[in-house]
Amino acid sequence: MAGFIELAYLVAASLFIVGLKRLATPATARGGNFLSALGMLVAIVATLFDRQILGFQWIVVGVVIGSALGLWMARAVKMTAMPQMVGILNGFGGGASQLVAAAVWHQFVQSGSLLTLETAVSIYAATLIGGVTFSGSIVAAGKLQEIISGRPVLFRFQHLLNLILFLSIGGMGMYLVISPGHSGVFIAMNVIALILGVLVVIPIGGADMPVVICLLNSYSGLAAATTGFVISNHGLIISGALVGASGIILTQTMCLAMNRSFANVLFGGFGAQVAATVGDDGRGLAARGVRETSAEDAAVMLGYARSVVVAPGYGLAVAQAQHQVRDLADLLEKRGVTVKYAIHPVAGRMPGHMNVLLAEANVPYPQLFDMEQINPEFERTDVVLVVGANDVVNPAARNSPSSPIYGMPILDVDKAGHVIVLKRSMNPGFAGIENELFYNEKTFMLFGDARESLVKLVDEVKNL
Ligand code: NDP
Repeated sequence: MAGFIELAYLVAASLFIVGLKRLATPATARGGNFLSALGMLVAIVATLFDRQILGFQWIVVGVVIGSALGLWMARAVKMTAMPQMVGILNGFGGGASQLVAAAVWHQFVQSGSLLTLETAVSIYAATLIGGVTFSGSIVAAGKLQEIISGRPVLFRFQHLLNLILFLSIGGMGMYLVISPGHSGVFIAMNVIALILGVLVVIPIGGADMPVVICLLNSYSGLAAATTGFVISNHGLIISGALVGASGIILTQTMCLAMNRSFANVLFGGFGAQVAATVGDDGRGLAARGVRETSAEDAAVMLGYARSVVVAPGYGLAVAQAQHQVRDLADLLEKRGVTVKYAIHPVAGRMPGHMNVLLAEANVPYPQLFDMEQINPEFERTDVVLVVGANDVVNPAARNSPSSPIYGMPILDVDKAGHVIVLKRSMNPGFAGIENELFYNEKTFMLFGDARESLVKLVDEVKNL
């Protein structure tokens, strides 16, 4: 039996790895997700066989409630709220690890048997990482959902306090290794881990929460892996390690795409200083020379172009305009226009946000181009249609060393013949800064909700 179970974990681990690999491109991502879920099913079934379960009734109740909740969340949560949902799920992972560690610790204390050093270290590590992940993720999700203010909460000696709390958990862990069985110390350790989770996330601005959520995703993997050591479960160790490693790679990729260092995200309080540059609701800035256009004129520009590149951003997700974008692209293609989509790695509010939205509207994958692929093409493009993107097309990232986003790689849409921007106002985007693209003489602003504007554009192109 033991051999069969280890084999099942090996199969599950292989499915996770192949699944992760297939998540790398939109064309294979759905299949990858399915394979990974299948791997998890194999691992769960193997674990149920492994554990000499006395009664399945509570497990069945848990599975039914958990599955029903998961199904409901997956269907009900809006695309724009996905980052916070991922955050909550990470938090649950961390919380589960903390609870398993506490249960095992309690079991040992009750039975009076001796904890080995490895098990003790694993329990305390799972408590620390699991607790920080749980409370940190809940705060991060709360900030994204705007239940908690997104402003960075900064106070004196904040990092010192965090360091002291971190060291005190280490100290308590060492104390418990030497003299186990002190429930009070163990409970204090759990509580401090939860407090630490809150304290490490509150100084980070709401704007950086998606990065924090990726980092906490990595932590939830580490917590699961350490829990795997606690209960000697190879499946958990492998899956936790994979989540931990992929989460940290994703975090690093996001930081690179924003040209921010990891330390700047964690300790920079981004959002506190740039808030000062917001404020002007922008309509007055039109006086500085933005050119407004009508759907009729924009349709002429698009309909008679040879090549059009669509540059989507967060506004596409807010407007849920992916189907209308596809309708417009289909019409343009029927007129002989070449249509491509430019995908910036951090367009939207989570990695792959634009890919997911466009996939939902069945936009053919070969039409999606990464930033590095599409940037050299803008000079040869007649019209770029910016749909709810702002920071990721802001030339200040190239031209203005004082800009908070200076150095961030952007889509060079300003190099195209003409640019049509769909947005509702002159309000800034995520970084809270003005966008010189909107004042460019080649740029035409089509104000309004992106979905409504696209519906009008579709009608107008039909009438050409
Ligand atoms: P931005 O947040 O810069 O801009 C979005 C624009 O969409 C706004 O200017 C807004 O203008 C417009 N908009 C909002 N709703 C609508 C609507 N219904 N119809 C039309 N327009 C709308 O988005 P980008 O995608 O350009 O940039 C993403 C930003 O998020 C970057 O700064 C990136 O660093 C950051 N980020 C991204 C992460 C990721 O993983 N993708 C993670 C962390 C941060 P208006 O209100 O006038 O309509």
